[in-house]
Amino acid sequence: MTSHLIPTYAPPDLVFERGSGVWLYDAKGDAWLDFIAGIAVDALGHCHPALVKALQEQSEKIWHLSNMFDVPAREDLARRYCENSFADLVFFTNSGTEAIEGALKAARKYHADNGHNERIEIVTFQGAFHGRSYGAINAGGNPAYMKGFGPQMAGFTQIAFADEEAAKAAITKNTAAVLIEPVQGEGGLRAAPDNYLRLLRDLCDETGTLLIYDEIQCGAGRTGKMFAHEWSGAKPDIMALAKGVGGGFPLGAWLTTNAVGEHMVVGTHGSTYGGNPLAMAVGITLWDEITKPGFLDHVTQMGQFLKQQMAGLADTHPDMIEDVRGKGLLTGFKLKEPYVNRAVMGLARDRGLLSGAAGDNVLRMAPPLIITEDHARQAIDVLDGSLHAARDAG
Ligand SMILES: *Cc1c(COP(=O)(O)O)cnc(C)c1O
Repeated sequence: MTSHLIPTYAPPDLVFERGSGVWLYDAKGDAWLDFIAGIAVDALGHCHPALVKALQEQSEKIWHLSNMFDVPAREDLARRYCENSFADLVFFTNSGTEAIEGALKAARKYHADNGHNERIEIVTFQGAFHGRSYGAINAGGNPAYMKGFGPQMAGFTQIAFADEEAAKAAITKNTAAVLIEPVQGEGGLRAAPDNYLRLLRDLCDETGTLLIYDEIQCGAGRTGKMFAHEWSGAKPDIMALAKGVGGGFPLGAWLTTNAVGEHMVVGTHGSTYGGNPLAMAVGITLWDEITKPGFLDHVTQMGQFLKQQMAGLADTHPDMIEDVRGKGLLTGFKLKEPYVNRAVMGLARDRGLLSGAAGDNVLRMAPPLIITEDHARQAIDVLDGSLHAARDAG
């Protein structure tokens, strides 16, 4: 059959009809254990009853008003974010890319309003991923994502991830902002050491540079803290969120301090859908679920359990697994050559487990935060079988 979709994706020949919790089902009723969750999006699994109820109830009241009119639920969700973070102010978006765009604009506006129009340089990191808009691909710096889309944009400097000397050299009084994922997602699940984030904070303070965290993938409780940077204690000036905060409904946000946010006055930025009543109803419910007592401890425990299990897998397959990566429930392992992450991912899918691939030949897992030890054991069993199969095929 001819496809009428722009061919940017090549999905497998598989159609899911419904989902429930950690499981997805096709029309025949066959089940898959979902350990990728829409790439760290379905934080509460599929069709969580509280989210379904919130969306259904809101859908019978008001769907959309635009930002022309007040939506009280925006304040309700923004207050939740701010009372539990460094932030004073929030701007809602529909996606991660838009959250990054807003964050970058706010950083430059802050310096411009402080008399430094020339201060536009954004320092970013090798292996970064920040989205697919012009600004975001230039921030991400992946040549494969920029090729063919015109000249590289001015104002982005890329340095090696977690390299202290490179950061000291790059962050100066001419830098507008440093943009980093506390745990790199697409780039291969590399977690920035806590002391590296603290060093960045110090360098930013010394030079008047703004620190921006991209917590689009690693935020929303995924590492066992609400935000991944909390493990380090190094707070940002701006933070981008999306993916897990919407639990499957398109929702993102960028959060900042009064000192930065106060410059984004009427007319400087906007969005038609951002903060839409449906998104707010889901976002509030999701937030209330993940802040329930014990929820984040559960994520930490499951992350540790999965990591132990993967260490066992690495012991069983020392010729195939290079190392175990990530933090909390954003985790996986790097495969040794000649084994290929996508091939193992495919073998696991054939055996009923959905996982993902990341850069650096990493097999990525980002299961719903509600998994149990039993789910983790099942996933590890499938991966074990898939690694054996990959070796046999090799
Ligand atoms: C997914 C992702 C983005 C882009 O988010 P979209 O919702 O796809 O626009 C940006 N940064 C990180 C770290 C991501 O994982």
